[in-house]
Amino acid sequence: MNSPSAETPVDVVVIGGGPAGAALATLLAKQQHSCVLLESATFPRYHIGESLIPHTYATLDRLGLLPKLKASAFPVKHSVRFVSPSGTDTAPFYFSETISGERALTWQVERSEFDRMCLDNAIESGVDVRQPVRAQEVRFEGDRAVGVTVENGEGGSDFIPARVVVDASGRVSMIGSQRGLKIDVPGLNKASIWTYFRGGRRREGIDEGETTVFMIPERGWFWYIPLPDDVVSVGVVADAEYLFDETKKFDPTLEREINRCVGLSECLEDAVQVGPAHGLRRLAYYNTQVAGDGWVMVGDAAGFLDPIYSSGLFLALASGELAADCIHEALLANDTSAGRLGKFSDTLWEGIEVIRRLIYAFYDPAFSFHKFDEQFPDQRNALIDCLVGDVVGRDMSSFLDCLARMSPPPAPLFSEDSEVVNT
Ligand SMILES: Cc1cc2nc3c(=O)[nH]c(=O)nc-3n(C[C@H](O)[C@H](O)[C@H](O)COP(=O)(O)OP(=O)(O)OC[C@H]3O[C@@H](n4cnc5c(N)ncnc54)[C@H](O)[C@@H]3O)c2cc1C
Repeated sequence: MNSPSAETPVDVVVIGGGPAGAALATLLAKQQHSCVLLESATFPRYHIGESLIPHTYATLDRLGLLPKLKASAFPVKHSVRFVSPSGTDTAPFYFSETISGERALTWQVERSEFDRMCLDNAIESGVDVRQPVRAQEVRFEGDRAVGVTVENGEGGSDFIPARVVVDASGRVSMIGSQRGLKIDVPGLNKASIWTYFRGGRRREGIDEGETTVFMIPERGWFWYIPLPDDVVSVGVVADAEYLFDETKKFDPTLEREINRCVGLSECLEDAVQVGPAHGLRRLAYYNTQVAGDGWVMVGDAAGFLDPIYSSGLFLALASGELAADCIHEALLANDTSAGRLGKFSDTLWEGIEVIRRLIYAFYDPAFSFHKFDEQFPDQRNALIDCLVGDVVGRDMSSFLDCLARMSPPPAPLFSEDSEVVNT
């Protein structure tokens, strides 16, 4: 194992200790690679994004986190249900329709606790976690990343040389911002406002931990996610111009939208809001390049589309795992070129493309899950595969063909209309 010093590069330096960075670093440390992880916040810290999907199971198992999750107070999630704007329930999509055994279940997680679990696991696996330490900049020699400068707490900075730099900085997207790679997603201009309530109505039995999606008119929607201590996470997603009006105050807008949503306001009849409302004006973005010589991006640092299918944590964990395997092979071969480090990305982005197509369909008034289910009953399992995250390395072409018959496919991601963004 290389030990980090000013002269000797560490094998891998990871910027960001969220689920993507923690998963990647854990798997590399388990393979005996020296790994420094820089996290600017002190954990536990607040984070949005609480609903897991079942296809995280294998990665959580490989990380050794399943016993902790099973022993936790996190509600178990077996299904997702969509409720129409008039308040009519559709039958839930149970994950056990396509997955047998306990792999069909997953959890609704309080992120402060889940992320701490992941980072503690990294420390226990031998990762050198430095916290709170903010990465200032990735240093490049030509196009090759050679390490990271960090604030040293005394008003200056230190340099950590590394054979591979991993950007897991979440929405900060450090390398993307530094190198002008971060791009708006055409046609996906959604924003979100959310908060927490105690005492919201819960269903019974197997449905108690479900995610409920309440549709509102004009193709907006609410998530309703049960969490521990009788708390429920409630958030609205809709066009940015619609949600972020001139008042720029989150609470009145959220209250207005809850009141407009029949099914949701019934669930919150006896509930009390706990904590402030949060808002995010631009949800979707991606990077035109996710790996280069000596560097790779994982999780939200690479891109984020939309919370509708709760795929963010799945993609964070999946990209962390796939990138870790590529980095391991690259280090053994002493070849940390873009081609080797980013070998996983084509397959992953083909899977993300399936999710992207279903996101656009969701916001298309011509589409509804009920209609799709009725018109293409033989595609129900493929639809559930999307909802559980089973889309990577799969041939989903007949599902996408059927989807195209109901909702036209969006323009390709890498279009000339895309504009580089600066956040
Ligand atoms: C409104 C909304 C709702 C969502 N709902 C869901 C959901 O229900 N289910 C789901 O799966 N996903 C959801 N997501 C997505 C989910 O939150 C993210 O996909 C997930 O957190 C990505 O994990 P990550 O590890 O890539 O990034 P993060 O969890 O953001 O971690 C990045 C870490 O990097 C650290 N960092 C940043 N800059 C630096 C720096 N310079 N130096 C050191 N450290 C740094 C940060 O402090 C942070 O801890 C939602 C997202 C939004 C916006």
